[in-house]
Amino acid sequence: MIDFGFALKQTRQENLDKVSLEKYHKLLELEPSFKRCFQCGNCSATCSARQFTDFSIRRVHTSFRRGEYDGLAQELRKCMLCGKCTLVCPRGVNLRSLIINMRQILDETEK
Ligand code: SF4
Ligand code: SF4
Repeated sequence: MIDFGFALKQTRQENLDKVSLEKYHKLLELEPSFKRCFQCGNCSATCSARQFTDFSIRRVHTSFRRGEYDGLAQELRKCMLCGKCTLVCPRGVNLRSLIINMRQILDETEK
């Protein structure tokens, strides 16, 4: 095969027959403002934890929305709950509350 110096990434299509969105729907009940997120990335761009680690709150809540929960509880421990992301969200998503609820849901299901 010819080496073009780059490779195609695997598709990120969501197969709704294979993933369970149960936790995501529970999160929406606890923090309905999450419905307004349009994935702009402002929250990640201003994140305090992002300055010191590879943490991306946008990646975390996108994975949660897609039903991909593996490793998220561990990842969320990097968040310092400073609340900066909530202040800059143009859609008024209460991210701090979202993060606390995500942690709780993930911890409950890990027990
Ligand atoms: S800043 Fe708000 S709208 Fe933008 S990705 Fe983050 S949560 Fe979503
Ligand atoms: S609350 Fe967490 S995710 Fe939001 S800006 Fe602070 S460290 Fe980042």
